[in-house]
Amino acid sequence: MLSQIISLLEKRPMNAREICDALGIEGDKEREIYEMLKKAAKVLKHKGKTLMMQPPRCKKCGFEFENMKASKCPECRSEWIEPARFFIK
Ligand SMILES: [Zn+2]
Repeated sequence: MLSQIISLLEKRPMNAREICDALGIEGDKEREIYEMLKKAAKVLKHKGKTLMMQPPRCKKCGFEFENMKASKCPECRSEWIEPARFFIK
């Protein structure tokens, strides 16, 4: 599964939800995807590549989160969040 995630991200940036869909994993397993991404980052590092993250962003006020996962904006309390996207560089 790890290598599948890596080959998906080599093609285009994706968020955890899109990775779930592409791999046919149920949406509630998103947390596992985040764990996988951490492992993928290590694997890629050995290959001299980097897993990059475009952080989650509040669609209402533009606040950028530092963590991979975000559910509520600390600035404006909005739950309208653009999820983190991952790509390989
Ligand atoms: Zn906000």
